[in-house]
Amino acid sequence: MRIAMIGTGYVGLVTGTCFAETGNDVICVDCDAEKIRLLQAGGCPIYEPGLEELLQRNIAAGRLRFTTDLPSAVRWAKLIFIAVGTPSRDDGSVDLSALWAVVEEMAPHLAEDAIVVIKSTAPVGTNAAVTARLRELTGRSVDVATNPEFLKEGAAVEDFMKPDRVVVGARREEVLEILWDLYQPYLRTDKPLLFMSPESAEMTKYAANAMLATKISFINEIAAICERTGADINDVRRGIGHDSRIGFAFLFPGVGYGGSCFPKDVRALAAVARAHDVTPRILEATHQVNEHQKGILLRKIREHFGGALSDKTIAIWGLSFKPGTDDIREAPSLVLIDGLLQHGAALRVYDPEAMDNVRKRYGNRLTYCQHRDEALDDADALVIVTEWKQFVHPDFDEMKRRLKRPVIFDGRNIYNPHRMKDLGFTYYSIGRPPVR
Ligand code: NAD
Repeated sequence: MRIAMIGTGYVGLVTGTCFAETGNDVICVDCDAEKIRLLQAGGCPIYEPGLEELLQRNIAAGRLRFTTDLPSAVRWAKLIFIAVGTPSRDDGSVDLSALWAVVEEMAPHLAEDAIVVIKSTAPVGTNAAVTARLRELTGRSVDVATNPEFLKEGAAVEDFMKPDRVVVGARREEVLEILWDLYQPYLRTDKPLLFMSPESAEMTKYAANAMLATKISFINEIAAICERTGADINDVRRGIGHDSRIGFAFLFPGVGYGGSCFPKDVRALAAVARAHDVTPRILEATHQVNEHQKGILLRKIREHFGGALSDKTIAIWGLSFKPGTDDIREAPSLVLIDGLLQHGAALRVYDPEAMDNVRKRYGNRLTYCQHRDEALDDADALVIVTEWKQFVHPDFDEMKRRLKRPVIFDGRNIYNPHRMKDLGFTYYSIGRPPVR
């Protein structure tokens, strides 16, 4: 199958590469010339486990190419995937300008039998609007399918290769058959390809992300109640998780969800609801709880130090919005960094993958450390924001030697409070009673 992937970001690059891996001919298109140059030179613009090896193999096999030339890629392809960003506008609704720019640019170049597939997350009604616009621009009926992507950054290749399900929204059986054929190699363990209307496919993606975000806000709210009442969220989490109606997934308390999807998709679905005279009470609460949660570490730090931070140095471990990625979009770490800087603290930061992205944002306002332990040197406290595996078993004696004071604010509950007390740390975590 000849596939053009338009938008070579976290989704487009992974998806395009994984399609090439099963023997398809893929050309990835992006308007970011620097990104395309890097890919053409064999580099990888993002950190994603397993991606680089897959990229190299498929480039070498001649099945994966990169270009900025959208018209020629569209002319050549049978399937044209749109995987450009769909960020939030200030009012929470979705900015579809990149998607529309692609639709306008591709229209004159579409082959007679080409199928356009919207992989970007876009609100219900987008497929119908794109279909109508392509009819206007081409004077004929162009097939437009919606095929939302459910991969997680940090496990994107694995998720794409072994999806829980594939969702295809299309208006014609023939389109479904082509996409069914394309996805067969990834659905070998009886995982379903679910066929539905484009509208249902569009809603499915938002409903999935809103559900997951709601679980996170729910457990964070329960954690806040635990903290005030002496209950331990970890016991409560286990106590409810063993109920098969509830389960364990996405019920870890923390510093709030971030990333390029949950925050913007919850806001977008709420905006769609409001536009259709539905009051999105749960979605708004999910968002509000999350905004509050992103401030939890700053509140704990200020409380510990009596509010004054101008003479304090704080070490931060973990900057990406979750482990396994270099992505810092809407990361809780940014809210913490902004708050700490505002209160005059000096910051020594470390992350295994996200340092370059953070440096681009903060320049010389932070001290960037090459190593986990280097960040601790002379700091008044350590704050753990992202639960990278390498933070789970540090050398606690070495930590105490390097820190000015043995104080840890753990936003991910990765240590045992009793053990931390025995080791001589003042230890704060989320939703667990302090052990003093
Ligand atoms: P991204 O910002 O990483 O990548 C988007 C790419 O599109 C960029 O490289 C950008 O240069 C390119 N682009 C923008 N306008 C273009 C144009 N006119 N022509 C060609 N290229 C253009 O975004 P992403 O994280 O890959 O997300 C893409 C879509 O997938 C979004 O709708 C997002 O909501 C959805 N999604 C993302 C994830 C995720 O984990 N990141 C998961 C599922 C779905």
